[in-house]
Amino acid sequence: MTNQYKYLILDGKIIPYEEAKLHILTPAVKYGATAFEGLRAYWNKDHQQVYIFRSSEHMARLLQSGRLMGMEGVNYSVEQLNILLRELLIANEIREDVHIRPSLFVVGDGQVPARSPISLGMAVIPMERWADKMYRLCVSSWTRINDNSVSPRIKCAANYQNGRMALIQAKEDGYDGCLMLDGQGHVTEEPRGCFFMIRNGVPITSPITNDILESITRATLIELFKEYHGIQTDVREIDRTELYVADEVFLCGTGMEVTPVGSVDHFVIGAGKIGELTAAIHTDYIGLARGDDNRHSEWRMPVYS
Ligand code: PMP
Repeated sequence: MTNQYKYLILDGKIIPYEEAKLHILTPAVKYGATAFEGLRAYWNKDHQQVYIFRSSEHMARLLQSGRLMGMEGVNYSVEQLNILLRELLIANEIREDVHIRPSLFVVGDGQVPARSPISLGMAVIPMERWADKMYRLCVSSWTRINDNSVSPRIKCAANYQNGRMALIQAKEDGYDGCLMLDGQGHVTEEPRGCFFMIRNGVPITSPITNDILESITRATLIELFKEYHGIQTDVREIDRTELYVADEVFLCGTGMEVTPVGSVDHFVIGAGKIGELTAAIHTDYIGLARGDDNRHSEWRMPVYS
């Protein structure tokens, strides 16, 4: 494997990219016993600075996922993880937008219930830009995993098999992605991001008790709708047919940022173009993440001092 960034972190230490190796019999490989995160860092040319967006919230969620997965002996604090991440970006001399992938995973040669030893990894990867287009989605025929089986609240490798199957099906059928329903038929999320729709000027999104990841972007946007636009988001269960009559639909996530949706199951959303509120919240989000908008400085961790 190659990567344009020379260094990554394995077992908590910065090492050359090629030296990161893992045995095929580790529980992380055998059973998907890996908790992970996805963060973004944005280069601000005017400030000559790289800002990592909501790093502490991502690191806290990583530790929460590890705890829920029964990992033992994870001795990192959020602050220590933040420091390590900053050191990694400095080692790689990052001066551009990048994606970052930290993980906690079970190593050793244990069996299914192995809870330790735990290793920490972090890698910088090029920032994939989501296509600048209106996404065409379908509703998947696969049901979303639920909190009493494999909880979507846990961001772990094994959980992504559910969304992976749904995405493979959706792409084979010619869509860009899909929405997944829970066992009762309510809209949960896309396999890579959370869901918002706008109806009559009100943003609506599924509750965090509806088999979704507790998305940091979703929480950010709910706050921005209120603070920047004076609109309260309606957090409630969403029916399938509401998708077809929505005025605007978009997906959100650290990777997706704000991704507008043009159709669902071939029902064109609104005028089939990016909606007014979607465009506004997208601009708000990027302005804050990159630091061109200087409000909420607590959300941006500068890399260089
Ligand atoms: N749901 C799923 C299944 C995801 O993979 C992601 C991306 N991490 C999200 C939601 C969005 O979460 P966040 O805003 O914290 O990136």
